[in-house]
Amino acid sequence: MGNMTREDIVQQLEQVRRDAEMALSQASNSEQISAWHSEYLGRKGQLTAILRNLGSLSPEERPQVGKVANDIKVALEAELQARQEAIASADLEAMRRAGSVDVTLPGRPQAPGKLHITTRTLRDIYTIFAEMGFQIYNSPEVETDEYNFQLLNMPPGHPARDMWDTFYTTTPGLVLRTHTSPGQAWAMREYAPEPIRVILPGKVYRYEAVDASHESMFYQVEGLAIGKHVTFSDLKGVLMNFANQMFGQGRHARFRKSYFPFTEPSVEMDIDCVICNGKGCPVCKNTGWLELLGAGMVHPRVLQYGGYDPAGFSGFAFGMGPDRMSLQKYGIDDIRYFFANDARMLERV
Ligand SMILES: [Zn+2]
Repeated sequence: MGNMTREDIVQQLEQVRRDAEMALSQASNSEQISAWHSEYLGRKGQLTAILRNLGSLSPEERPQVGKVANDIKVALEAELQARQEAIASADLEAMRRAGSVDVTLPGRPQAPGKLHITTRTLRDIYTIFAEMGFQIYNSPEVETDEYNFQLLNMPPGHPARDMWDTFYTTTPGLVLRTHTSPGQAWAMREYAPEPIRVILPGKVYRYEAVDASHESMFYQVEGLAIGKHVTFSDLKGVLMNFANQMFGQGRHARFRKSYFPFTEPSVEMDIDCVICNGKGCPVCKNTGWLELLGAGMVHPRVLQYGGYDPAGFSGFAFGMGPDRMSLQKYGIDDIRYFFANDARMLERV
């Protein structure tokens, strides 16, 4: 390259420019643009290589050739920028097309929120009893020994206290209520000597081994009616109406003698199995019957503790487990699902 004239070099520069423009028009992504820049405009690129060979030119010619080279460089850089913008805008357009809303596609399903089955079962129970004139009465979850046991005819040392495995608090005499029955005492002491018709719903606590059918926390709904002529027939009528409303008309029921310290007489109420209609299935353990609730006539001593004269007043009480009703009604096989916060179970029912 020793004896190149000014014309030779200018010719070379023009050739590089044409090659560069051709190559640039074929570059279609940022990698190719980057490679093109190195090839033609970079420190080791073709343009720089030519400008290193100006040694054979006269001092007057060098600036002239230098100006030609610089003009080409400026022109190529402008073309590079235009090409980069064209590629970027084509990329953006492609992205827009790929990400655009296709109105022919079906919409994404929205999962609507819904009530927990325990809430639904409780509301069903409230509605049925409201139609029979029962109001909701709430009472504390942390109870005194007096309300949880003594006012329900279980003085200290009474063997019936062993019917419930009790959570005791660090404060002597305070327990987590083992049943909703203490609410009976609260309601009676508030309303005596007026008649009462209430249901007492809420959480209760048992210090029990947890398994598929036992939780250490679950719901109960207690019922209490007190008046001057409340009879066992009234109790049966209310409970039969409840069973028919809750599980469908035409239910059959049976009452078995039972024992609770706060009712006398006491019964357990069974209904014919809602799954097999009494024919026998795994849910009813092939007996055809499901245990629904416990009930009885309020013990005279409990009436007295509540402020009613047992000579002039009588009453009935019952207690049911809405969680177990949900298990039967919705065909769930494990009570632990209720508080496990597993959305799949909540979506299923
Ligand atoms: Zn059955």
